[in-house]
Amino acid sequence: MSAPRVGVLALQGDTREHLAALREAGAEASTVRRLRELEAVDALVIPGGESTAMSHLLRELDLLEPLRSRLADGMPAYGSCAGMILLASEILDAGVAGRDATPLKGIDMTVRRNAFGRQVDSFEADIAFEGVDGPVHAVFIRAPWVERVGPQVQVLAQAGGHIVAVRQGQTLATSFHPEMTGDRRIHKLFVSML
Ligand code: GLN
Repeated sequence: MSAPRVGVLALQGDTREHLAALREAGAEASTVRRLRELEAVDALVIPGGESTAMSHLLRELDLLEPLRSRLADGMPAYGSCAGMILLASEILDAGVAGRDATPLKGIDMTVRRNAFGRQVDSFEADIAFEGVDGPVHAVFIRAPWVERVGPQVQVLAQAGGHIVAVRQGQTLATSFHPEMTGDRRIHKLFVSML
């Protein structure tokens, strides 16, 4: 079987780390900034960064609706942090109207933006992660949490009593940044789902 072609949405945020992590996990990874690049990939990673800025750029570059429709058609995706926020079907504390984070509806869930950030800006924790052997060292930076999941959504990890990783079909989302730690188990899990 040939390696899956996985794009990394490269409008803003920590693109490079995801490209490296995906390659180490056995995927063929490339950046996505325009429609033809989106059309050329089998799956997409939406990185951490700032979900309001990414939403704005998606609209400016006419990528918002094409990306939504590929997700609706079942393109697998993985979102970390800001990417988790964008993959939600509903976003709480999305920002100010007109400059808010826009849900792409890849996973039936309600996500609260900057949820942990109201308590502490960033923190690290070793957490159990369903489907991954042993604890995962998770880095949270102004991270969201998941407040509601639909019946198709599997909860994979929690931190401080809040849901921080979920999966629906071939789409995965984490509140934290596995690309920053050198641990490739989460990217390997995603690539193995494709
Ligand atoms: N707080 C950011 C947002 O709203 C996410 C932070 C991150 O990706 N590290 O998009």
